[in-house]
Order: sequence, then C-alpha cells, then structure tokens
Amino acid sequence: MDNDPESTEFKEHFRARLIAEREALAVESKESEDSRKPVELDQQSVGRLSRMDAMQGQAMAAASEARRKQRAALVEAALRRLDDGDYGYCIDCGEPIGIKRLEVDPVFPRCVRCA
Ligand SMILES: [Zn+2]
Repeated sequence: MDNDPESTEFKEHFRARLIAEREALAVESKESEDSRKPVELDQQSVGRLSRMDAMQGQAMAAASEARRKQRAALVEAALRRLDDGDYGYCIDCGEPIGIKRLEVDPVFPRCVRCA
C-alpha cells in the first residue's frame, strides 16, 4: 500500500472504503425506517407497557439514526476532500495524516499532533 496521499492507489483505497461505508449507512438507515415511525397510540392490541416499550424503541432508533447522519456527514466531507485533492493531509497543519491513522478511521481530518 502506497503511503503517499497523492498516489492513485492511496486515493482509490480510501475512496472505496468511504463509499462502502456511505452505502452501508444508507442501507442501515433504510432498514430502520419502520422502527423510527411514530408509535401509534390507538393500537388496540397493545397494553400501556408494550406501548411504552414501543416508544422507547422508537426513541432509540431515532438516536441511532442521528448518529448515522453525523457519521455520514463525516464520510461525505472526507469524499469531498478526496475530490479536492486535500485528502490525507491535516486540515490544520497540512502535514500528511499518515496511512496508519487513516486505516483506523478514513474520515480523520487531522494528524495525531493536531487532533
Ligand atoms: Zn496536523
């Protein structure tokens, strides 16, 4: 693996990872759509406790979705930096972030020293 942020191998490796994550997030988001729907309050078959369970489940699903959206924004920003040719360089000091750090998380915008 090439450690140079300018190399095609470097760019394509992280672009593929970021796009895969963006797709995984979109799939999760789609799959959890139902569980985020507001809880029907007039369901006849459910008692008060199961309705509370359902509302708690809905709140948890909404929180997960908020986390996914946050993560998706970081992934999008990293893909934009790739398109702009800035990817792999620290947004504060301009030094290369280092491939090991990016392998841990490809959305990191800063080097270890500036993080
Ligand atoms: Zn830095």
